[in-house]
Amino acid sequence: MQLARFDDQRLGVVLGDEIADVTAVTEQLPMRSWPFPAGDELIRHLDALRPAIEALLPKAPRLPLAGRKLLSPVANPGKVIAAPVNYRKHIEESRADAGIHFGNEVSAIDRYALFLKATSSVVGAGEGIQVHHDPEATGRRTDHEVELALVIGRETRHISEQDALSCVAGYLIGLDITIRGTEDRSWRKSLDTFTVLGPWLVTADAFGNPESVDLRIAVNGQVKQDANTRDLIWSVRRCIAMASSAYTLHPGDVILTGTPEGVGPIARGDVLDAFIEGIGPMQVAVR
Ligand code: MN
Repeated sequence: MQLARFDDQRLGVVLGDEIADVTAVTEQLPMRSWPFPAGDELIRHLDALRPAIEALLPKAPRLPLAGRKLLSPVANPGKVIAAPVNYRKHIEESRADAGIHFGNEVSAIDRYALFLKATSSVVGAGEGIQVHHDPEATGRRTDHEVELALVIGRETRHISEQDALSCVAGYLIGLDITIRGTEDRSWRKSLDTFTVLGPWLVTADAFGNPESVDLRIAVNGQVKQDANTRDLIWSVRRCIAMASSAYTLHPGDVILTGTPEGVGPIARGDVLDAFIEGIGPMQVAVR
């Protein structure tokens, strides 16, 4: 199932070039009183809601997908966890870009492990990316990074690599937008709009094996990154297991699994076309 959040907080199922509006099922989410549980309530209850969504589908209003404003499929991620330099060729590229890294030593994920991005940076494909630093005025480069992203479906702690995929609610395309420079990753990658998630959530049962999928991104029609998750240094399973060794994972937590070689600058007016096998195209405008 391909689940989208769109327009004015609508919930939909993407069917070809249409969205079936199933927002009515969200009325079945439990009423809560303060303090609210950590995480995303829709993702927490997604398995329980699936029969109601499927029952509603035949009579749900259908809207053309074109023209919908796609929001982040996860409304309230508790954490956005991300993997640095997790493709071998991207390490070489990062070293070659050392001047742009202002002396940052770039090493493998074994050394850096994972980092966190502010959840306030999350947007959907329809909201676009804001370039905060004018490169002409500041000399700062803002780069695209396309990554396979996943959403945790249930509370998880200390899960093994072998079992790691069992806690995944679904997969989506993640863009980990980054200002190059010396500051900590969490500073340079957490500006508003710097985490694009979408275009919709492909539930794990519909996605298959995440360890061998093509991913790519084009800027203004020119392909810049083109790789396969089989070249990850820390596999998808290892990213989840390692994240759960440090943090309790809650429903709606997002893990970005790292970007391959080919990162490059984006500028206002650019159009990004990202693609991950089994998820579909995602177009994002740069503002
Ligand atoms: Mn990244």
